Parts: sequence; C-alpha cells; structure tokens
Amino acid sequence: MKVVMTTRIGSLKDPDPAKKGIVEVCDMPLRKLNEGEILIKVAYCAICGSDPHSVEGIFGRPAPFGMGHEISGVVAEVGPKADINGFKVGDRVSGNFRSTCGTCYYCTNGMEQFCRHGGGEPGMAEYLIWHEKQAVKLPDDVSLKTGCILEPVSIAVRAMDKSNIKFGQNVIVLGGGPIGLLTLQLANLYGAANLTISEPIAARRDIAVKYGAKHTIDPLSQDLKEEALKITGGRGFDILFEVSGVPKSAETMQALAAPYANLIYVAQYARDYNMPVNMWDMLYMKEVTMTGIFVSPYTFSRTAQVIGRLDLDDMTSKVFDLDDAPAAFDAHMTGKYPKILVKCNPDLE
Ligand SMILES: [Zn+2]
Ligand SMILES: [Zn+2]
Repeated sequence: MKVVMTTRIGSLKDPDPAKKGIVEVCDMPLRKLNEGEILIKVAYCAICGSDPHSVEGIFGRPAPFGMGHEISGVVAEVGPKADINGFKVGDRVSGNFRSTCGTCYYCTNGMEQFCRHGGGEPGMAEYLIWHEKQAVKLPDDVSLKTGCILEPVSIAVRAMDKSNIKFGQNVIVLGGGPIGLLTLQLANLYGAANLTISEPIAARRDIAVKYGAKHTIDPLSQDLKEEALKITGGRGFDILFEVSGVPKSAETMQALAAPYANLIYVAQYARDYNMPVNMWDMLYMKEVTMTGIFVSPYTFSRTAQVIGRLDLDDMTSKVFDLDDAPAAFDAHMTGKYPKILVKCNPDLE
C-alpha cells in the first residue's frame, strides 16, 4: 500500500535541494490485525502544522518514518476481539492517532497522554490500523472530509477544557492559524465576550470575523497591549489562548491578562525556548494560571458530537491526491491555505 513518508530529515523551507527535507510516497506492506484492532481504509488525511516540524526532526525520530495523524476513513476489517465498541465494516470513523497501553500509571490515572508504551501508525496512507479504542464513529451528518479535522478540533476542545472558560468572560486568541481559528469558534460557542483575534495576515482576520471575532488586531501594525486594554476597558482578558508559537506573542500575552486569568499556551514552541515570566506581576499580584497543551486525550467522542456545528468549509476546501502529497506539503508551506487535505483513496468521498 502507499504511505507518505519522510525519507530525509531537513527543513521543507531549505532553499538548498541537497539539504531540504524530503516527503515522498512509498510502498509498504500491510500487516495483519492483532487482537482489538481494526483496519481503516483512509479517506482523507489533513496536514498538521506540526508535520513540517517532524520532517525537520523535532521529535528526534530518524528517517524514514510515515506521516499523518488527522484522518477519516471507513472500517475495512474488524480484527479478533475488537468487539467492545461494536464497529462494523463500512462504519465511518475518525479518532485518536495515539495508541496507549491502558495499563501503566498514567493510563490508569487519567493521564494517558504521558503513556510511553503506545505508538501510532502513519495515517497519510491507503490503509491504517488502529486499536478500536482509538476510533470514534462519525455522526451521519458529518462528512469524511470534515471528519479528518476531528483531531485538530479536539485540540481546541482540550484548550477549552483547560481554560475553565465561563460564559461572558473576555477572550483573546493570539494567532489565526487552523488551531487558532478553531479555538476562536469554540470560544464563541462558549459565550465569550469581547472575542478578539490577533493575527498579522488580513485574510485570516477576515475568517476570524466570520467565525465570531468581535475585534481584530494586527500585531505588526498595532500595539497589541494598548488595543487589548482598550477593548476590555483596561481590565485585560480573562481567558487567553496563544496559538501562534511565536516567542514575542507568548511573552506579550502576559501583559494582556486580567487578574486571575487563565493563559493557555496551545502552540508548539522551539525546544530551547525559555519564556521570561514576571513572577511578581503574574503569579503574586494577579494569581494567573498558565498551562499548555501536548495532545488531546479524552476529547474525541465529545468532539465528534459537536463538530457538525462548526464552520469548517475554509479548512476542507484544498484537496490533493495521495500521489501528489509532496506537492501538498509544498502548498502547505506557502501558508496560503488554512488547511490542506490529502485524499488517500479515490473512491471514498
Ligand atoms: Zn495535528
Ligand atoms: Zn500506558
């Protein structure tokens, strides 16, 4: 079967073709199902903002390795003893790309994201094998195209969970990439007040307005702190999401926080980046809470129930065929599209 793989570590932006990271379509054998597993014929796999970073080698994995974790598909085979959640051949599914052991300290204490005995198989492929516990059925009104966005939406859902957002609180989102825009849509559903996006690209600010932003800030031409305090009558924001991954934005977000605010650092930052925090102001005087998001355990089935209520057309309109996956990555690197999908089997819509 065809699998999209990283075959050389390197930046996809490197102008030197001898050093640039290589993503290509390879041929791999399909293994047999073990107990508890299901075979999924993949319909779509979306490119994640973290995918180019894994091509760069941020996770320390040597090449070659398979790509893709944001998938939707159809159950093609149900393995032995995969009978707990009632999956049948033909069921439309998406879910959690991370498999966990279910046995270790973390798995048995509600922290399966820290399990070190799991794994994951590449989803940008014709077929994918998951343990049945990773899969969730898609509701009838959710298309396979929309379904492949379940994982990024689940990240935004976890950001909401960790923010403890309350109806009518002031909310700002820094960064209008896919996760930022999803976070903004969810904050709007949660009843956010003065919902604000800070994003340098005008087209993304426009999408944010469509998704419910009441205020927009261009952090390159406007003073982010000044504007944020103006919007909130000088009090600052109660819930702040940093989704850009840009150090300056991460640092500035502190100055926008109201007393007792929750600051959620949703993005992935460089491994060697240390953010300065003014302990007097932030932790002593304001008693803020700062946290981050690694992955999104325990959110997938809840996300599947509400994903149909979100406007995801902008994120599912650019589609490449599996054979054109390298071109899909090039298109992703231009930053022109909020999200890019790879169609992994031509007969699945
Ligand atoms: Zn992702
Ligand atoms: Zn475990």
